[in-house]
Amino acid sequence: MAKLNFRYGAMNCGKSDTMISAAYNYTENGLAVVTIMPELAMRKPGFTTSRAGKEWPVDIATNDETAIREEYHRFIGERLIHCVLVDEANFMTPEQIDDLEKIAKLDDTSVIAYGLRSDVQRRLFAGSQRLFELSDNIDKMITMCTCGRQAEYNGRFVNGGFHVGEPIVMIDNDQTSVRYQSMCANCYHDNSQSPGAITA
Ligand SMILES: [Zn+2]
Repeated sequence: MAKLNFRYGAMNCGKSDTMISAAYNYTENGLAVVTIMPELAMRKPGFTTSRAGKEWPVDIATNDETAIREEYHRFIGERLIHCVLVDEANFMTPEQIDDLEKIAKLDDTSVIAYGLRSDVQRRLFAGSQRLFELSDNIDKMITMCTCGRQAEYNGRFVNGGFHVGEPIVMIDNDQTSVRYQSMCANCYHDNSQSPGAITA
């Protein structure tokens, strides 16, 4: 029976890079993959991109209204799919994560979902919560804080100032001055107490 897998980590832990490598490896071995990603998280329309400069086309771009399993069945038709790869799954709704679980269990196709555990206020994303509830396998991807400790949280800087207040979701692309940095609890608190920090 196929499994639902959740691989989570803080920003910049290499999630997209790992997913793109997986897509490449499956495809190179003649195995079909389908890639799914929320549109709002795309830095380049139609693609998942890694900070290391790799990119891979997204087959199904979603928004909150997308019925993922229906879209998936329409997209694959009669084809046999070996693995479904999902990037930025934290941004999906709980109902969409339920659909991913059905693809694993009812359609018997492995699903690997990558995503953040928590937002800039260190609260679970709704999609991540549902993935923690339903996944067969949960792997943590490790990344380091600039101080050398293990990073657990996502700090955010806007125009250079620490900003983890509303809005919770801001996309860091070339058009914005938003920068995310994975950090340990100590550095998160240090930055929260810095002059001008926005924390609510
Ligand atoms: Zn630190």
